[in-house]
Amino acid sequence: MAASPRGHAVVVGAGVVGLASADALARDGWRVTLLDAALGPGRDGASFGNAGMIVPSHVVPLAQPGVFGRSLHWLLDPESPFYVAPRADLELLRWGWRFWRSATPAHVARTLPRLHALHQAGAAAHVALAGRLALPAPERRGLVMLCATEAGWREARHEAEVAARAGVAAQVLDAAEVAACYPGVDVRAVGGVHYPDDGHRSPGALMRAWQEHLPEGATIRWGARAVAWRRRGAEVAAVALENGAEVAGDAFVLAGGHATPELARALGLRLPIQSGRGYSVTLTDPPQRPTVPAILVEGRVAMTPLPEGVRFGGTMEIAPADRPVDPRRVRGIAKAAARTFPAFEADALAALPVWSGARPVSPDGLPYVGRLRRAPNVAVAAGHGMMGFSLGPVTGELIADLFADRTPRVPLEGLEPERFAGA
Ligand SMILES: Cc1cc2nc3c(=O)[nH]c(=O)nc-3n(C[C@H](O)[C@H](O)[C@H](O)COP(=O)(O)OP(=O)(O)OC[C@H]3O[C@@H](n4cnc5c(N)ncnc54)[C@H](O)[C@@H]3O)c2cc1C
Repeated sequence: MAASPRGHAVVVGAGVVGLASADALARDGWRVTLLDAALGPGRDGASFGNAGMIVPSHVVPLAQPGVFGRSLHWLLDPESPFYVAPRADLELLRWGWRFWRSATPAHVARTLPRLHALHQAGAAAHVALAGRLALPAPERRGLVMLCATEAGWREARHEAEVAARAGVAAQVLDAAEVAACYPGVDVRAVGGVHYPDDGHRSPGALMRAWQEHLPEGATIRWGARAVAWRRRGAEVAAVALENGAEVAGDAFVLAGGHATPELARALGLRLPIQSGRGYSVTLTDPPQRPTVPAILVEGRVAMTPLPEGVRFGGTMEIAPADRPVDPRRVRGIAKAAARTFPAFEADALAALPVWSGARPVSPDGLPYVGRLRRAPNVAVAAGHGMMGFSLGPVTGELIADLFADRTPRVPLEGLEPERFAGA
């Protein structure tokens, strides 16, 4: 094989973040090997059946004042959008403690401009990616936060005011204005908020096209589970696979989604990430066709009109990724959908095949993007939580910037993978 100008980069994980990293590194002159534990392409990792929303509006982190009051009553309702599987797990306790410490006005104020900058670059990176893959650009019809209650509407308006501080455009809608967004569709809402700059596209279609059209110099190896590292002084020389083989490299990227902490631990790094499981169902023959994506505020359910059908997704179960699907939570999603869009029947939605995926959730609502002080030729790209589809493409560009020693196109302050080490 011809030597590449920069060397050999090994990326662990072929979800949206790993694909993006492999793509950007290969365009930057690296020979890239992308390793994934899955046995073949198009497998249903978190990056495939998600809601497909590209959300520059999402600048307020999950950890925010008031989040505990809202979550506590959800914990007792089996159909609610939030659940923590009780278990004696020190990492879960540590994560919960850091989440709690982050739910402050000062943290929100610090995080707003960081997420805003990331999302602006993230939306642009999606457009550029579509161009490279010869796909249409993402749909840009915005996102409506749909509120079934006055309390939900108040909450949505407050969040819009906070987001406006970071420069996010938002328009408050009354019930008549909401109805005007959905001509020919029955929609029950007391009001809403429209974020005009959000976009969407089919995540599965994008992922499959991307896997098939990686730039020259990048190859994917399926069935390749990374389990350990071989060190060479301060740096890493190779990653060891479950089957005993080794893949040597000059640079390494850890992009294993919710499973990233396992490999980080092998480098002596505790990386707080919990698996935040969610579900989606897709109605391929919907009774009505809404055209603008929505989030149903009270039920925390996303609705996205996709070429393959109308998708409803939701639920955040802080639980091991391999837990079986909980039908009560699918029912909660279906009921919330039918409450707002009565032409969609809850029973029909709850009977659809269920897709599930595990979000990699950090406690402070910011992803981990950066090189490690303890192993400078290793970078982490993980922990994007509810925003990984939106921020995947730009994360890849940032990883390429880091390994080229260029100033990253978005400031990475606050995203350091070792920010909780020792805390
Ligand atoms: C219901 C739902 C709806 C969502 N909607 C949206 C949305 O609308 N917009 C948005 O921006 N985000 C959304 N998300 C979040 C988004 O899906 C995730 O943040 C994103 O997919 C995470 O991507 P990733 O590449 O980090 O992880 P993954 O997609 O999980 O990929 C990680 C890959 O690493 C591999 N791997 C792990 N460990 C190893 C190992 N040791 N060796 C080799 N390979 C390994 C896995 O096989 C996997 O393929 C949603 C998520 C859910 C669940």
